[in-house]
Amino acid sequence: MNIHEYQAKDLFEQYDIPCPKGVAVQNEDDLPDAVSRISTPLIVVKSQIHAGGRGKGTFTDGFKGGVKLARTAEEAIGYGKQMLGNTLVTAQTGPAGRKVQTIYVTEGCGIKKEYYLAVLLDRATSRPVIVASTEGGVEIEEVAKKTPDKITKVYIDPAIGLADFQIRQILFKLGLNKQEGKNAASLIRNLYRMFWETDASMVEVNPLISTPDDEILALDAKVSFDDNALYRHPEILALRDLNEEDSKEIEASKVDLNYIALDGNIACLVNGAGLAMSTMDIIKHFGGSPANFLDVGGGASREQVIAAFKIILTNENVKGIFVNIFGGIMDCNVIAMGIVDAVKDVGLSLPLVVRLEGNNVEAGKATLATSGLTIVSGDSMADAARKIVDLVA
Ligand code: GDP
Ligand code: MG
Repeated sequence: MNIHEYQAKDLFEQYDIPCPKGVAVQNEDDLPDAVSRISTPLIVVKSQIHAGGRGKGTFTDGFKGGVKLARTAEEAIGYGKQMLGNTLVTAQTGPAGRKVQTIYVTEGCGIKKEYYLAVLLDRATSRPVIVASTEGGVEIEEVAKKTPDKITKVYIDPAIGLADFQIRQILFKLGLNKQEGKNAASLIRNLYRMFWETDASMVEVNPLISTPDDEILALDAKVSFDDNALYRHPEILALRDLNEEDSKEIEASKVDLNYIALDGNIACLVNGAGLAMSTMDIIKHFGGSPANFLDVGGGASREQVIAAFKIILTNENVKGIFVNIFGGIMDCNVIAMGIVDAVKDVGLSLPLVVRLEGNNVEAGKATLATSGLTIVSGDSMADAARKIVDLVA
């Protein structure tokens, strides 16, 4: 789960991670009051969306910049009005962009230098890693590609935690002076503590800045959490912004289905994440393209199958459906009855290929065959995949 910058900065304050003060605004009428609460000569107006690259982004109406620096209150309010309700396209949003529903108005800071700092979970070593670089503010992916020597990585033993010598390593690499180093050490320690205690999967600060007074501040914040640990953090779960999530994925999570929208035109309904992955692979193998990942789990009910059909059909790109079920715990006939109900319920007119195998498969196949519906049966996974790819071609 991702959160907005303004929410991340609230967490930063709780963890004594210095950052510019700000006010979040959802309503145009609240802009003047928010702006009046900023005491610095420079006022920063920031679009809140779950995507980076806002500063360099462009709104669909042509207005440039999802992060703007203002010198006067009027200017700041003007920027806020331009952004609220407008759709921002950045390198990370895709061409459709994201509608801005919240603006964060913050204190402006003098910047001496921009750095990059992040704590992430490194899956290869199964350890948290702190990534730091003197090349902040810009695309860190570019730095990693062109000048990888400018990126420092410090791996942390989760049982021991972040050691002081590791913090010194980072400070040395960043080339900070004594006062900056002192401030940065405490920020890094607190950032790691926040990462650890909130079960975050990423806490990214880009840029981390030094000011002319040698202060170190987190100017930007991008934080995501491990969904599997959210039950331990109701206060973080409360920060979830459904506006930022795919509506089909939200519907699916309500009925305990794992659904992820993709770009292709063959909808998949599969039981088990591994089989769902290989189903997408085999569609690709035969020249097709999956419209979604959908795992109905090991023991889906008839109701869940119907719900799953409804969700996959809300995607307008779908030209055909591939149901691939291996009945282990699952009874193939339960799935077959669910499919028949669902097809009747939604009045399906798209090609549907079903491959059933395993527990009670004969009864399942009989249910489909005697349903009077046009359902193409696949003898094997490859056979079924070939058939659906042909049918949507
Ligand atoms: P992003 O584009 O989504 O990563 O948004 P950021 O919060 O990182 O802001 C983009 C850029 O705006 C930063 O890299 C800074 O260069 C600039 N910026 C943001 N806040 C301030 C500020 O308080 N003072 C100054 N001088 N520049 C700022
Ligand atoms: Mg940034």
